[in-house]
Amino acid sequence: MKIARFSHGERIRYGVVDEGDLVVLAGDPLFAGFETTGERVPLADATLLAPVIPRSKVVCVGKNYRDHAAEMGGEAPAEPLLFLKPNTAVIGPGDAIVRPPQSQRTDFEGELAVVIGRIAKNVPAENALDHVFGYTIGNDVTARDLQRSDGQWSRAKGFDTFCPLGPVIETEFDLDGGARVISRVGGEVRQDGPISDMVHTVPDIIAYASAAFTLLPGDVILTGTPAGVGPFVAGDTLEVEITGIGVLRNTARDA
Ligand code: MG
Repeated sequence: MKIARFSHGERIRYGVVDEGDLVVLAGDPLFAGFETTGERVPLADATLLAPVIPRSKVVCVGKNYRDHAAEMGGEAPAEPLLFLKPNTAVIGPGDAIVRPPQSQRTDFEGELAVVIGRIAKNVPAENALDHVFGYTIGNDVTARDLQRSDGQWSRAKGFDTFCPLGPVIETEFDLDGGARVISRVGGEVRQDGPISDMVHTVPDIIAYASAAFTLLPGDVILTGTPAGVGPFVAGDTLEVEITGIGVLRNTARDA
């Protein structure tokens, strides 16, 4: 089932994608289940928004694909390397990524995003997937020059608009189904890697993260990016596609 958050007219609501329509839900399915209102809105008439606004945080994993760790000049860490993005960085499909004047080099990083559905604290990997609501697509936008010069990553990865999410949450995504993360800039493929290349798996990441932070329903985990990251400039169209979920498309502009 694909869940969208959308605006139509003056209202923001949730819906289940059904053919070319959204079947409107009575409330936020993370908290109110899947009761429908009986109304249908054509997808073409709706504006899709970030399918979730992280309740408290976006937890990210650095260097979680060996070929990406190598292109950054190192090895994949033995344990997940975690950092946070503020929820104020989140934007939706179609929204503009704004390149800040403080940075001369902003990079895209296409990533599988996990949406947490139940409070998770000290969750063992064996039970970790019970705490997942579904999966969406994220772009871990990074001011690469500031990441290097700051020495830690909060500012470089936390600017407003640096966490596009969407277009939908797939609740039945198969982690073992051969899905790939494909990123394009201006239609040209820059990244194409299978999620099976992750060093630390989704259950392991949830276990590791939840041993440190309580994960709340609506929190999001970005699981790392395959090789091929690189810069983009104002005017570029960025796409991240994950098999079985869809395509997250954003444009870039300067502040
Ligand atoms: Mg990343």
